[in-house]
Amino acid sequence: MSVLELRDVTKTYRTGSALSRHRGDFHALDRVSFDVDDGAIVGLVGESGSGKSTAARIASGLVAPTGGEVSLLGSRVDRLSRRDLHDIRAELGFVFQNPYGSLNPRRRVGDAISLPFQIHRPTMSARERRTAVLDLLERVGLDPAEEFAAKTPHALSGGQRQRVAIARAIALRPRLLIADEPVSALDVTIASQILTLLLDIQNELGSSTLFISHDLGLVQLMCDHVVVMSRGRIVERGDARTVLEHPEHPYTRELLNSMPSRMTRAEL
Ligand code: ADP
Ligand code: MG
Repeated sequence: MSVLELRDVTKTYRTGSALSRHRGDFHALDRVSFDVDDGAIVGLVGESGSGKSTAARIASGLVAPTGGEVSLLGSRVDRLSRRDLHDIRAELGFVFQNPYGSLNPRRRVGDAISLPFQIHRPTMSARERRTAVLDLLERVGLDPAEEFAAKTPHALSGGQRQRVAIARAIALRPRLLIADEPVSALDVTIASQILTLLLDIQNELGSSTLFISHDLGLVQLMCDHVVVMSRGRIVERGDARTVLEHPEHPYTRELLNSMPSRMTRAEL
């Protein structure tokens, strides 16, 4: 079964002001179709501006597509009631590039991780939440958990902040993780630790992952299947190794030549 299905998804943004002669439509996504199967790690790769984050936001129901169909866990996202959309969001976990942007700077780490429980598990007691939060902090390697729970994001390093974001993303044991450039802001050593953590967690939870990156090297390390995007279109797709070893589209070859990552599988 597919956890996520995009079919001919289009997203158009209006450009220019209403009175401008240059008013037009900008196609951020042009008939994009791909699936994330149960248990799979699918890589979405492309240069900056190719539409990756737009696809991720549409996949999660945060942004409505202009056209096409999106299904999460077998349900059409655009046909869900608010209530059902709320429920299905509990099956999704997000990790973004910039954990400063996604973590409220004034909220303590423990409270940030507790939030999904408060929203989606209203019957949990404060004590149960506390225990769950401390377990999650330990799971992502933030030990001693009690100490980390009391900190605010600014007291953490970039890698530690990303660990907090991961803890929050997996709090409800989601079926699908969407990691949008999760290590692009980190140095190589820290990045490799975070990627290892993501892989371990994905294995433990048996969840699926949509792993988004501009770095084809990282995508190959992490993913079974790769979807290559350029200017809002899918230009190539396939088994990760095949796409890397025998790229067919010139754009994929260009991406390979400009690969920022020097990380190898052995380093993970
Ligand atoms: P990526 O994540 O691959 O870097 P994005 O999905 O963020 O790309 O953006 C794809 C294109 O869509 C970019 O050219 C961006 O400027 C444009 N875009 C994204 N969001 C909006 C928006 N809300 N309004 C107008 N243009 C947007
Ligand atoms: Mg992006």
